[in-house]
Amino acid sequence: MRSHLLNDTTAEHYRRSVTEGVERVAAKLASTRRPFTGVTPDRLAPVIAAVDLDTPLADASAALDELEDVYLRDAVYFHSPRYLAHLNCPVVIPAVLGEAVLSAVNSSLDTWDQSAGGTLIERKLIDWTCARAGLGPAADGVFTSGGSQSNLQALLLARQEAKTTDLSKLRIFASECSHFSVQKSASLLGLGPEAVVSVPVDRAKRMQTVALEAELMGCVSEGLVPMAIVATAGTTDFGSIDPLPGIAALARQYETWMHVDAAYGCGLLVSPTRRHLLDGIELADSVTVDYHKSFFQPVSSSSLLVRDAATLRHATYHAEYLNPRRTIEEKIPNQVDKSLQTTRRFDALKLWMTLRVMGADGVGGLFDEVCDLAAAGWELLAADPRYDVVVQPQLSTLVYRWVPEADTGPDLVDRANLHARKALFASGEAVVAGTKVAGRQYLKFTLLNPETTTADIAAVLDLIAGHAEQFLGENLVHAS
Ligand SMILES: *Cc1c(COP(=O)(O)O)cnc(C)c1O
Repeated sequence: MRSHLLNDTTAEHYRRSVTEGVERVAAKLASTRRPFTGVTPDRLAPVIAAVDLDTPLADASAALDELEDVYLRDAVYFHSPRYLAHLNCPVVIPAVLGEAVLSAVNSSLDTWDQSAGGTLIERKLIDWTCARAGLGPAADGVFTSGGSQSNLQALLLARQEAKTTDLSKLRIFASECSHFSVQKSASLLGLGPEAVVSVPVDRAKRMQTVALEAELMGCVSEGLVPMAIVATAGTTDFGSIDPLPGIAALARQYETWMHVDAAYGCGLLVSPTRRHLLDGIELADSVTVDYHKSFFQPVSSSSLLVRDAATLRHATYHAEYLNPRRTIEEKIPNQVDKSLQTTRRFDALKLWMTLRVMGADGVGGLFDEVCDLAAAGWELLAADPRYDVVVQPQLSTLVYRWVPEADTGPDLVDRANLHARKALFASGEAVVAGTKVAGRQYLKFTLLNPETTTADIAAVLDLIAGHAEQFLGENLVHAS
């Protein structure tokens, strides 16, 4: 069994084993024509249940054979041009290479003595991202597991910086289109159920600063304390970017923490043509960046940035076995002092390899392509009488709804759209997302694949209309 440990004597086993895995995946990528097989949990669950985990197979080849049945055949493939659903990107090869290296070396980024150069690489990437955001000379940050964790940590810092320790008094302001992790974080941070104030959006789905100001005024006049304003720079559904400079002015006026949730829109930091959409981000106290969304990185790769490095002390605890106080005096760079996690992946290496091979413009150019694609998709939808489209996209999502020619009432249209989404998923020909707008069922494309074309979008719209029309036909027949 020792032959399975990765070390100096098993290098050849390692090379063969990983190469075989890479070859299987490469063959899979080359032969996969659809994003999904349409497999149902009912069909797949018994296959996985039948595996006896106490009885190993003969070797890695056998395990890879089995993996075909339990995973690879029916996985959802984000590299497919017709995967148009959630904020998942096809990944860039230099990042996958980085992933292979970081898993094999297995550095842990909590302390210098578990990572050495890994710590400095992560720090340099944080500094680089802070500079791209314009956060100033005192900025710092740390890699996290994802946007949800970044938002949680940002709000933890904001809570600790707030002007009261009475948690019941604290209020967080976020638009009605903000990410649900804001609500979750508030709950985890011990704030009350009323803590998150939902600020209305304008027609373009951006936070209304006039409404924000009214809410802030109301909050203070009731003796409550504004703890943070969360501006979303790229809402998950619409890609809409809240008015950052206006929000920053209000944050300053009310002496409140400004957090920018740029989990989605962070790709603009490297966009050769659209960086201006993030103007005002430099005024934030903290920023969430999800490289695993718009930097084409494998999950997970994310960071939290702060304007003032000193605020990260709210996440600092010391343990004799790990990062004793003396390591601060000794200036030993221990990233655990800034992180909610302890043992932590060297995810930064993926971004490092990406920048060293492709450059920032290369990544930003890919994000620009999908934003251009969304603009073209909007033209298609706006001109198509079968569809209502909600807003012209700033980033790369399209939210739309199939509508029949005849007036059948909105409930049946809701059901037809939901049916179309499910039928499409079951067919495996394309995967799209859904959401609700003003209580009505809508469908959503999240475009993060530069290989997707307007022809793909048109074809998927035809498929959706086909499913929806069929559903309507059947249900009108049954109703009459
Ligand atoms: C995706 C997303 C998050 C959460 O990020 P995870 O990496 O999925 O945890 C937070 N905010 C916004 C706006 C997002 O789109």
